[in-house]
Amino acid sequence: MVKDIVKDPFFLGQKSTEATKDDMQTANDLVDTLRHNSQICVGMAANMIGVKKRIIAFDNGKMISVMFNPEIIEKSGEYETEESCLSLEGSRPTKRYEKITVKYQNNKFKYITATFTGWTAQIIQHEIDHCNGILI
Ligand SMILES: [Zn+2]
Repeated sequence: MVKDIVKDPFFLGQKSTEATKDDMQTANDLVDTLRHNSQICVGMAANMIGVKKRIIAFDNGKMISVMFNPEIIEKSGEYETEESCLSLEGSRPTKRYEKITVKYQNNKFKYITATFTGWTAQIIQHEIDHCNGILI
């Protein structure tokens, strides 16, 4: 179900807690909401639809992927960039890494470790920040 986007900085500034199999509906809502906003948004975290659980969804231009409890375990190639966010006005400068290795659980809650670069890596970093209560 498509949900409203949370824009309250106090709510978004709080850390999300671990997601479990009980949060599958939230993941589905997140994908529906991302798809609904696909013209203006490439990734979302669950707290942006009002659920403080560590779930992200992102669109790499080909397909939408979901990660439960994602965590960056390795990063390299720091650079400065500018980003915008569906929950905020305008764009803001931020620091990102060109290459990241992420440990997460898939929709069967199996642990996966994968490396991402470039644009996809940037989206994932932005959304994991949301899980940690960090806004750009
Ligand atoms: Zn954002």
